[in-house]
Amino acid sequence: MPELDGRVALVTGGSRGIGAAICTELASAGAEVAVNYARDASAANAVCDAVREAGGSAHAVQGDVSTAEGAAALVGAVEGDIGPIAILVNNAGITRDDLIMRLSEEDWRSVIDTNLGGAFFTCRALSRPMLKRRTGVIVNITSIVGVHGNAGQTNYAASKAGLIGLTKSLAKELGGRGIRVNAIAPGYIATELTHALPDQAREAILGGTPLGRLGEPADVARAVRFLCSDAAGFITGDVLAVDGGLGI
Ligand code: NDP
Repeated sequence: MPELDGRVALVTGGSRGIGAAICTELASAGAEVAVNYARDASAANAVCDAVREAGGSAHAVQGDVSTAEGAAALVGAVEGDIGPIAILVNNAGITRDDLIMRLSEEDWRSVIDTNLGGAFFTCRALSRPMLKRRTGVIVNITSIVGVHGNAGQTNYAASKAGLIGLTKSLAKELGGRGIRVNAIAPGYIATELTHALPDQAREAILGGTPLGRLGEPADVARAVRFLCSDAAGFITGDVLAVDGGLGI
């Protein structure tokens, strides 16, 4: 029997990039996947079609996690229409890069609200039902930038560092009821988010990566699958780097 057989998994920002790979991977492990998106319904539906063609189960679910109402409605819709959420992957994220002297309040707030607020809002909405069920797994997608910082990304780095604090605190809060909370810190992964990297920046990243390549979304997705499985049953509050060694 596949290791996640029949478990309902909600993946925020599952419509493309790393989130889409996570949806595909969890579905191939037997999970029934809720593919969340904010704006692009056709991309989310394409992920669901691909999962179904491969024999898995997936449903597209709209919801803006950057607001408390949006995240609560999303969690409620998945629990009501699909089933009790056993796995929550907080993957939705955005960048609005600039040097701090030019960084607008709007770009500060939108990144914090989406990347950090989104995880807070979904975790809060799901905490009561998960506590009642005394089981559950949460995986937060942070970033190597949240660990080491990056010039021009103060808003993004602050949101991702905050996500690490949230992960560790929540692991302590929920561990007594059998709920595990971990984070994954990807290095540079080839997606739309990193597509616009200038050649010079790309070369510098590759030069600092012992494995000598950018990551693929599937590299992150396989690590998520492991952390969601019972094989990781004694792992909580951890931050797993999936970065080809860039952070060493
Ligand atoms: P993409 O930009 O390719 O995808 C982002 C996803 O998030 C989309 O599905 C988008 O949906 C969704 N999203 C954005 N805002 C919201 C919102 N308010 N509510 C719900 N969904 C939303 O990003 P990546 O796949 O590259 O990144 C995924 C995660 O991994 C992010 O958290 C990112 O910070 C992190 N990460 C990425 C790295 C990389 O190198 N790519 C490295 C380290 C971490 P829609 O289009 O419908 O808005």
